[in-house]
This record gives sequence, C-alpha cells and structure tokens, in this order.
Amino acid sequence: MKILHILSRLKAEGKYKLDTARLQQLQKRKATVEVVPEHRCSGCGCCKNVCPVDAVTLEENEFGYLLPQVEREKCIRCGLCLNRCPGVKKTITDSQELPKAYAVWAQDQVRKVSSSGGMFTLLAQRILEQNGMVFGAAFTKDLEVEHIGIETEEELYKLRGAKYVQSDTGLVYRKVKEALTAGRPVLFSGCPCQVSSLRNFLGKEYPQLLTADLVCHGVPSRMVYRKYLEEVYGKDTIESFSFRTKEKGYSCTVLEVKLKDGRTLYPSLKDNDPYEKVFHGSYALRKACINCKFAEIPRQGDVTIGDYWGVSLYDEKLNDGKGTSVVLVNNKKGEQVLNEIGHEAKLIQETPLEVAKRKNRFGAYVPVPKVREEFLAEAAENGFLEAERKFLK
Ligand SMILES: Cc1cc2nc3c(=O)[nH]c(=O)nc-3n(C[C@H](O)[C@H](O)[C@H](O)COP(=O)(O)OP(=O)(O)OC[C@H]3O[C@@H](n4cnc5c(N)ncnc54)[C@H](O)[C@@H]3O)c2cc1C
Ligand code: SF4
Ligand code: SF4
Ligand code: SF4
Repeated sequence: MKILHILSRLKAEGKYKLDTARLQQLQKRKATVEVVPEHRCSGCGCCKNVCPVDAVTLEENEFGYLLPQVEREKCIRCGLCLNRCPGVKKTITDSQELPKAYAVWAQDQVRKVSSSGGMFTLLAQRILEQNGMVFGAAFTKDLEVEHIGIETEEELYKLRGAKYVQSDTGLVYRKVKEALTAGRPVLFSGCPCQVSSLRNFLGKEYPQLLTADLVCHGVPSRMVYRKYLEEVYGKDTIESFSFRTKEKGYSCTVLEVKLKDGRTLYPSLKDNDPYEKVFHGSYALRKACINCKFAEIPRQGDVTIGDYWGVSLYDEKLNDGKGTSVVLVNNKKGEQVLNEIGHEAKLIQETPLEVAKRKNRFGAYVPVPKVREEFLAEAAENGFLEAERKFLK
C-alpha cells in the first residue's frame, strides 16, 4: 500500500507519469486503478463494472469529473480493474485504418427529432425489431445524464439527442453483458471511450453486439452544467432541456429550454449563451479529452456517427438543412448493418474519407483555453456565472 500513498502524493502534485515499464510493474503487483493518472482517465466506468467485489465507485471530484475511488477494505487486490482500464490498456478492434465514409439521412420525421441525420435511430430500430436492447445516454428526472437500456421503440426518444455533458455509465456494461448472454441482439452507443470500455469489460467478441461510437469533441464538467442550470434558470423551473434543437435550423449551437410557466427559450452561441460558450470554447473539457487517442481513426465502434459538417464542400445537395449524419463503417459488421438499414434510410451516399474528416474532430489533440483551470476553480468556488464574468467575457 505504501506505493499507492507515494503515487497519490505525486498525482496531487501533478508530477506523476505512467510509462509502459512502470505500468507493467504495477500490473504485476496487482495495483488498482488508483494509479491511473487523471489525464488518462475518461471516467468510462469499466473499473467499476469489472470489479468482482464492488470495491470501485465513480465519484465526482470538486470540478465535476467522475473519477474512480477504491474501497481498500473491500478490495481483494485481483488487479482486474487496472488490467481492463482503457486508459492504460489498448482495446483490440478490427477497425480499419481507412474506413469508408457515408453521408446518411433517415426519413424526415426521424431527422426532425434527431441531432444530426438520424443514423442512431436507423441502427436502433434495426436492433429493436429483432427483440434486442439498445443502450445509450438519457436524462434522469433531475436533468443529469446517465446510460440506460431500452427495449421498445416508444422509449427511443429517451436516447435521442446529443447531451453535451458526461454520461454516467453506472453498471450499464453488466446489463449489456446480461442481454448478450441471454442471446439478445444489442446496440451500444456512446462516446468512443465508453465503447472501448465496454469491449474491455466484455473481453471477447459477441456476434450479436453492434457498437456505435460518436465523433467526439469531448465532455464538459458535470458540475459546470449543473450550476449553469441552477444559476441561469433555477433547476425547478425547467420542464425539459435539450442541448440541440432544429427549431431554429440545423446547427449544434442552439439549446431549447422549456419552462414550467409555458415559455420556451432558445439560448444560442450567437446570443452569447454561457453554456454554449463553455462547450464550444472547451473551457470545461475533461482532462482526458484534451489528448484522446479514442478520437482518432481507427475507431472503437463498428460504426462511427456524427454530424457531416463539411458535406457541402463535397456536394451541396447532401445538405438540405435538415441534418446529415457522417457515418464511418469501421469493419465488416458495420458494413453489414449499413446494407441492412438501406431500405429505411432516405439517403446513403459514399463520400471520400478526407471530406468526412474535414471540419470535425478526428485528431487526438484539442486545444483548450489557458484559463481552463482557473475557470473551473472559480465555478467550483463562487459559481458558474461568476466564473463566466471573470473568464469568458
Ligand atoms: C459529448 C458529445 C460530443 C460530440 N461531439 C461531436 C463532434 O465534435 N462532432 C460531431 O460530428 N458529432 C459530435 N457528437 C455527436 C453528435 O452530436 C450526435 O450525437 C450524433 O451525430 C448522433 O446523431 P443522430 O442524429 O444519429 O442521433 P440522435 O438520435 O441525436 O442520438 C444521439 C446519440 O448520442 C448518444 N449520446 C447522447 N449524449 C451522449 C453522451 N453525453 N454520452 C454518450 N452518448 C451520448 C445517444 O446514446 C444516442 O446514441 C457529439 C456527441 C456528444 C454526446
Ligand atoms: S479510464 Fe475508466 S476504467 Fe480507467 S480508471 Fe478511469 S473510469 Fe476506471
Ligand atoms: S483490484 Fe480487483 S478487487 Fe480491487 S478494486 Fe480492482 S477489481 Fe476490485
Ligand atoms: S474526447 Fe475521448 S475521453 Fe473525452 S469523452 Fe470523447 S472519447 Fe471520451
């Protein structure tokens, strides 16, 4: 245990680096995920799901990032959590280095209620019609975000729509495994680190598992999001909240806030909404999102889905203002499912990969403002609006 104390001190002082030799040494000693440095921890929750004695919990630190805590009295030092952690163990995938890229539209009624071109719904419907389960991110009644599983098309609305804050995966990977063990088809959707986490947790391939990872800018702090809701609207005044709406056209910079008094607000980046500024300016990005190997190609999911922001540069007709999904088909399973959904989609057109990568994040590194840490400290100490006043104006 002495080594863990030394590591925690070095981590707190920001002096701790984990190189391969050190990691191998720690793995032999059956160390726990306590040794994973914050810049490598995505908060994916693999460690919590994999622990055989439930000794790991994910707790928010003062800045609103989920980090693992190990209950030392419970821990049996099996080393499984560290050995499966995607922050230090690379997931084996059969994803291609040069996947095919497509522009996809679901039917218009689906696109209207989806963030991008509705690719997620096309995949989900395919699984649900085979008596499968679909897992993804949903709001709780308190407007927090967590991963859940659904079994019917009536419940699909819960998972639709991008939620630009980290989703708590809870024990969802165990639920995925239960469904797979029962022989049910499963779609798991999430950020690439979460897909990698699921693969590491399962430890083997399941033919009936389909994974869709999102093109991922990164996730902002849960504390910052919560304080924004509380300080700008008052949480109890909100009927429903959406991080994106198509009511004002196709973009990712307009929120929709329905209030209990009957009003609907559309705060936007153009009108300097502070949360839009925080998200798009990367002021509250998780440390692990700043340099993230999962954002790169080859990807973690069988398919990758996102917004096809650069599509007009290739062919203006592929952007009708209602939402176009960019879809990367990363392996054979992805290719097969794209063929299967063909009859449901309004448009599926292959495009050059280079065009798909333009105007989007497919690189590991994303720059963040110099004041990121000061902004977070101010928000934690004196509130979101005070942090905005000091650092975002
Ligand atoms: C934090 C975040 C950052 C993103 N960054 C980019 C980007 O930089 N470029 C880009 O092109 N696209 C990005 N996306 C993806 C994009 O916003 C859409 O979610 C995606 O294109 C799916 O749209 P759709 O129309 O197919 O499906 P929708 O029906 O809108 O489905 C939304 C899908 O996203 C999943 N999801 C929603 N919120 C979360 C969350 N917090 N964590 C994990 N999964 C979630 C749901 O489970 C569902 O599968 C991001 C999404 C998130 C959540
Ligand atoms: S990256 Fe995931 S598995 Fe690794 S320590 Fe963080 S939450 Fe746990
Ligand atoms: S070492 Fe084993 S018992 Fe201890 S926290 Fe990790 S998975 Fe759980
Ligand atoms: S940027 Fe990387 S670490 Fe951050 S949420 Fe996306 S995939 Fe996970």
